[in-house]
Amino acid sequence: MPFSLSPSPPLLRLLPIPRHSFSVVKALCITGMSGMHASTAPADSHDGSKATRRNKRLEVEGYAVEGISIGGQETCVMIPQLRVAFDIGRCPQRAISHDFLFISHAHMDHIGGVAMYVATRGLYKMKPPTVIVPACIKLTVEKLFDIHRALDGSELKHELIGLDNIIQIGEEFSMGKNLLVKPFKTYHVIPSQGYLIYVVKQKLKAEYVGLPGDEIKKLKFSGIEITDVIRSPEVAFTGDTMVDFIVDESNLDVLRAKVLIMEATFLDQSVSIEHARSFGHVHLSEVVALADRFHNKAIVLIHFSARYGQEEILSAIKNLPESLQSRVSALTEGF
Ligand SMILES: [Zn+2]
Ligand SMILES: [Zn+2]
Repeated sequence: MPFSLSPSPPLLRLLPIPRHSFSVVKALCITGMSGMHASTAPADSHDGSKATRRNKRLEVEGYAVEGISIGGQETCVMIPQLRVAFDIGRCPQRAISHDFLFISHAHMDHIGGVAMYVATRGLYKMKPPTVIVPACIKLTVEKLFDIHRALDGSELKHELIGLDNIIQIGEEFSMGKNLLVKPFKTYHVIPSQGYLIYVVKQKLKAEYVGLPGDEIKKLKFSGIEITDVIRSPEVAFTGDTMVDFIVDESNLDVLRAKVLIMEATFLDQSVSIEHARSFGHVHLSEVVALADRFHNKAIVLIHFSARYGQEEILSAIKNLPESLQSRVSALTEGF
């Protein structure tokens, strides 16, 4: 059989691959499939601790929060229990198993791996995912998928949904079971939005509390509405933003969510607040100044600048005022 240079997977399997070159092929596949942070991409270059890298997943308020978030490099934060990935970064391999992907904005470190995420789920015959993006970029993201289809003939099956964060429009999306997601306004240098997941519960109306079970059953079968629908803000994710989202009156539920995952790109005096704002980011000192606004049980900080190492991040958190420090943790994978 004549040799072909075509890299399609079936041909690779058919071609006689010399034993010594197998590790090279494998390395290429791993690089392509898992997103580059596990190989020789710049994400490794700033910390010099590739050998000791661990999965630094956090446990907060009953949720596992995992992923990688390095400002300007890659952000993908996952909550496996909710089957949700917030932003996709370079598409880390474990993002593939999450059915919902919520994109905060179109900077490459947040959306870069979106086609790889959809393609890999297709490759593994997984259910086409639901990808939610800010409504204003939906058409452009559609074109991006069309370009990939034109390039490689793949189907890239997924459901793409644009949600608008304008409060008066009040768009939301049901994630099935008892969950729904609403976008909220964030303040970055390009159009952006955060996402707030609510748990929806039925609660017996006050006037029926204390009634015997049979009577409640009777009322129910007679068609009377005996429950109120209660929504409780559960998990919020900001993506990139300035602190303005905190003082935005329409975001009160975000500050009441059980878990708030928010960016804090800059941590110390090596960068001024003005500098942070000029790039559309949060400076930790601004968070301290607004500490009394947060009613969240847990706050997970993400998206630290690559200029910091893990020690600096942990020490910045240790130095927070007690009201924050007891609730704040940091996602430090990759640092
Ligand atoms: Zn970013
Ligand atoms: Zn950004």
